[in-house]
Amino acid sequence: MPIADLHLHTTASDGRLTPTQLIELVAGRGLKGVAVTDHDSTEGLAEAFAAAAAYPDLRVVPGIELSTDVPGNEIHVLAYYIQYTDPGVQERLARFREGRVDRARKMVEKLRELGVEIEWDRVQAIAGEGAVGRPHLALAMVEKGYIKEPREAFDAYIGRNGPAYVEREKLTPVQAVELIRDWGGAAVVAHPGWMPDLDPTLEELKRAGLVGMEVYYAQYSPERIRELAAVAANHGLLACGGSDYHGLGNTGEPLPGNMGPPLDMVDRLRELATRPASIPA
Ligand code: AMP
Ligand code: ZN
Ligand code: FE
Ligand code: FE
Repeated sequence: MPIADLHLHTTASDGRLTPTQLIELVAGRGLKGVAVTDHDSTEGLAEAFAAAAAYPDLRVVPGIELSTDVPGNEIHVLAYYIQYTDPGVQERLARFREGRVDRARKMVEKLRELGVEIEWDRVQAIAGEGAVGRPHLALAMVEKGYIKEPREAFDAYIGRNGPAYVEREKLTPVQAVELIRDWGGAAVVAHPGWMPDLDPTLEELKRAGLVGMEVYYAQYSPERIRELAAVAANHGLLACGGSDYHGLGNTGEPLPGNMGPPLDMVDRLRELATRPASIPA
C-alpha cells in the first residue's frame, strides 16, 4: 500500500509554500493521502481543498498542530478532522495566534538586546497572514546574515533553552487532547521521539482520548521507528506520521512523502474522530 503524509505545514503557519503550492508538490510526488497540519491555524484548508480538486485521487485530511506545555519542555499534538468551520473553534485558535504575536515581539526584543538586530515589521511581513512562529524569526536572521540557515537560530538563540526564548500561554497535553475530542477530531501525539516519561505520558493521554502517535517521522532512524511502532502497539495507539515538511531551507530537510504510515490511516483516523468534519467534495 502507498503511504500517506499526515504532517505538513504551509504559509498558514511556518511553512513556506502556499496551500496550493503544497498540494501541487505532493500531487507531483505521487502522494494519494495528505494532511495539512498548520500550527494553531486551519486557514490553509479551504485553499488546499480547492487546489486538490484538480487531483481526484488525492485525499486531503483537515488537520492542525497544537503546542502544549510540560515542565521544562513541550509536546505537540496533531488533530485530524476537527470541526474547523465552527466559529467557537476559530475563536479559540485566533486567541492562540494572538499569544504567538505577543511572544514573537518579545523574542525580537530579546534578540536585539543580544545584538541580533532584526525588525518586528520584517518578521511580520515574512509570516504574512500565517500564525507567527520561531521559524519566521529565524528566516529574518538568515536574511540579515546572522546565520546561514534557520535551524542555527534554534541552537544559538530561540531553542527552548536559548537566551532569546520566551514562553507563551499554552494548554497542557491532556487539555489539548480533550479539546480536540470536544472539537470532533482525532488526537495524535507528534514527534514523540525525545519525550521524557514516554510510557506514562502516553498512558495518561490515552485515558484523555488520544488515538495515535507519530511513528513514521521523517527525521527518525529505522531503528527508532521500529521501537516507536512497538510503543504504539503496546498502548493501542495508531502508528501515524509524516514528513513535518516546512520548506524552510534547512540542509537535509525532509520532503513530503519521505515518510508516513500506510494510506489507509486516512480512514482509520476518520473512524476514531469523535465527530469528523465533513470534507468539501
Ligand atoms: P513555535 O511554533 O514558534 O514554537 O516554533 C516551533 C517550530 O520551530 C517547529 O514547528 C519547527 O518548525 C521549528 N523548530 C523547532 N525546533 C527547531 C530546531 N531545533 N531546529 C529547527 N527548527 C526547529
Ligand atoms: Zn513548525
Ligand atoms: Fe511539531
Ligand atoms: Fe509540525
